[in-house]
Amino acid sequence: MLKKINIKILLLLFFCFLILISKSEAKSSIDISNRYCIYYEKKDIPEEEIVGKFPIIIYAGDGFKKEDSDFLKKQIIYKNYAYVSLKNSEEDLNNDDIKELIGLFSNKDFQNAHPEFNFHRTYILTSSSKIGELSGEIDSNFDISGIIYIGKNEDKLNFEKPILSLSSTSNFARKNVVSINFDLENFDKIELYSELRKLYRRFSLNNYLKAASDTISNFIRSSDMIYWDRGEENHLGNIPILMYHNIYEKDDRYIVRPEKLYMDLLDFYKRGFLPISMEDYINKKINIPKGFSPYIITFDDGEKNNFDLKKDGSIDKKCGVGVILQFAKDFDLFKPRASFYVIRDVPFYDKNSAEEKIDILYENGMEVGNHTFNHLHFGEMDNAEDVQKAIASEDKVIKSFSKEEYFTDVLALPYGDPPKKEFLHLLEEGSYDGHSYKNRAIVYVKQKLALSPFDPEFDPMEIQRLGIGSPYNTTAESILEMVWDNKFIK
Ligand SMILES: [Zn+2]
Repeated sequence: MLKKINIKILLLLFFCFLILISKSEAKSSIDISNRYCIYYEKKDIPEEEIVGKFPIIIYAGDGFKKEDSDFLKKQIIYKNYAYVSLKNSEEDLNNDDIKELIGLFSNKDFQNAHPEFNFHRTYILTSSSKIGELSGEIDSNFDISGIIYIGKNEDKLNFEKPILSLSSTSNFARKNVVSINFDLENFDKIELYSELRKLYRRFSLNNYLKAASDTISNFIRSSDMIYWDRGEENHLGNIPILMYHNIYEKDDRYIVRPEKLYMDLLDFYKRGFLPISMEDYINKKINIPKGFSPYIITFDDGEKNNFDLKKDGSIDKKCGVGVILQFAKDFDLFKPRASFYVIRDVPFYDKNSAEEKIDILYENGMEVGNHTFNHLHFGEMDNAEDVQKAIASEDKVIKSFSKEEYFTDVLALPYGDPPKKEFLHLLEEGSYDGHSYKNRAIVYVKQKLALSPFDPEFDPMEIQRLGIGSPYNTTAESILEMVWDNKFIK
């Protein structure tokens, strides 16, 4: 008896020991210094972990109202999921369609032709228990990660694959049903989304479809989020415009470490975001591959650490531009796009290299904008001349170092602080000491997501940005949370 206990205790101790070992390993793998090793070391991250894109097949089936199914599809698009259907959106899929789709997704040629997808994680969303008829076939033949079921007959499903049942959500729903009738034929897409957005705003919290899509989002790993469409693009989603200042190896206000900047880019990339330029944003050109969402990267104050060259003329890998170019090297889909809003008489504080740096920026798809000469508060200026002087002087500096085809003509307000109402028009157009300027966009900082350039309320003279890091109390994750919650709904 005693021996038996001793063996049990020994075994127990051994297991504790194993757990301790595994825990310490797990701990070291999230250690900050290890995370920093990822910096410039793409090989440590499997590609499929980085770009998690997955299709969801919606099989609405019977027992689910057409309006609900349409709305849910929209919700899923809103929520950055892919919605896949072989048929047009008016028709629900049947079991044969599901088989065909899964067959297609399992086909290696099809998979190779669509590297933007992660076919290892395909989900079926359905309200029909008839899907249960396919259970044997799906379990044994197809690569499906899970079934999301909205209905009451979960017991008929019989899948070995994981099932998320939303029956409790639909019970909740019945008490809060919102009836939505759309004449889809007679809506153009922009109108449709505006209309949906209004409705959504009205019913947001007790709308069961929101509850359903939220529950789905918990089921699927957050890194799997992506907006992919099949002809149903949402052009009205809000866009995060990030504002950085110093990129420097120190922890302080207005400073982000280069390693952290790299991790921020990675966080956005993992969630299917790719940067676009301010120029493209203003011109309503969202030049990113299908399935991705746009964001914009900006740097204020034109500090040396934003763009610095080493003695041998190479770009310092630890400066803002260096990190962005390195990230673009590591991830093919990521194109270097960023705006640098500069001040004083020399952009990036080095007269000898300013012109070359501006060339490098534009050749790589980045841009330079105006942040005024002296970085003073516009709000404290009492006369028109001061406002114009601040803008015109820096406009002149930028243009003296830039080729004409580069002229961006975007003004970022120092402190995000606009002038008094009577001087507002001078942000757009004015002159001082013989130098005239004409800005095409004005950039603020109100810690808000920016409107889509397709939004009827979009105003290039009032573009919102989000300060990132200290002192703004934001991180890439918290901003992505905001996007998650607000992206498509104002
Ligand atoms: Zn500034």
